[in-house]
Amino acid sequence: MELPAILTLPRLHEVAAPVYLAFLVGEYLLVRRGVLKGHFLREDTHTSLTMGIGSIVSNMLLVGLGGSLVFAAYENRIATVGFAWWAFVLCVVLDDLRFYWSHRIQHRSRWFWAAHVVHHSSEYYNFSTALRQPWTGAVTGLVLLAVPLAYLGFHPALIGFCASLNLFYQFFLHTESVGRLHPWIEAVFNTPSHHRVHHARNPRYLDANYAGTLIVWDKLFGSFVPELDRDKPVFGLVKNIETYNPLAVALGEYWGIAKDAAAPGRSLLDRVRYVFAPPGWCHDASRKDSHMIKADYLREHPAEAGSPGFLASG
Ligand SMILES: [Zn+2]
Ligand SMILES: [Zn+2]
Repeated sequence: MELPAILTLPRLHEVAAPVYLAFLVGEYLLVRRGVLKGHFLREDTHTSLTMGIGSIVSNMLLVGLGGSLVFAAYENRIATVGFAWWAFVLCVVLDDLRFYWSHRIQHRSRWFWAAHVVHHSSEYYNFSTALRQPWTGAVTGLVLLAVPLAYLGFHPALIGFCASLNLFYQFFLHTESVGRLHPWIEAVFNTPSHHRVHHARNPRYLDANYAGTLIVWDKLFGSFVPELDRDKPVFGLVKNIETYNPLAVALGEYWGIAKDAAAPGRSLLDRVRYVFAPPGWCHDASRKDSHMIKADYLREHPAEAGSPGFLASG
């Protein structure tokens, strides 16, 4: 059997690590000398790097679980797209759309958030934050969103390559040192400015800018919020985790889910909601989800109604 051309391409994560490291060290040195804007904390960076290494190991061990589903879909494909240049371009765009919805789901349902929260758990925003990746991403079930692409006829290796290209692109978004780029770049592509919004805990910026490569998906599906000079992004979680322990970072939210779902005196429906409802949902008024946080903020700042991030309430 002829080897698909894409399999002769270098696997991106094998060549990317030295690039990541060079940019990270470069950013750190230039920030320390005051040449670039940014912030670092040694413990935070160490934890981010540990999470990155753990994520690669867990993916290598677990990728077969979801990968076999994608291959099964490809075996039953309705067409064969092949490896022409246009197939690559089409796959990049369609996989970016897959990434958008996968990412949005990861923010809007606690089961998926429990894995993705790792990436948002740093209060810093530098190239090391990009490497702070989940250890449990392969078991959430979201790989199912790649099944339609394989069913349409895109080879699983091509889908995998496009997904890794997307993550490679996103590494370079994680920096405070780049302000705003040319307006047409900001209009079409995800940029450091757009992704700073995504990592911010300010009420205005919650649930915004889920894009991977193209910011147009957020504009199309109503989740785009621009970075405003009058509302500087504050990085981290609504409730920060206050730990640098990698195991606690990787599994802390699962522990929270288990405690909530197993607590005595709750209905079965509430237990299910504690697993799958949006992060912050609770059966009484003891916690707040992002909609409640935005509503509270608007009550205190009524003049912001209708401004970016608060359009629905305006
Ligand atoms: Zn996210
Ligand atoms: Zn990010």
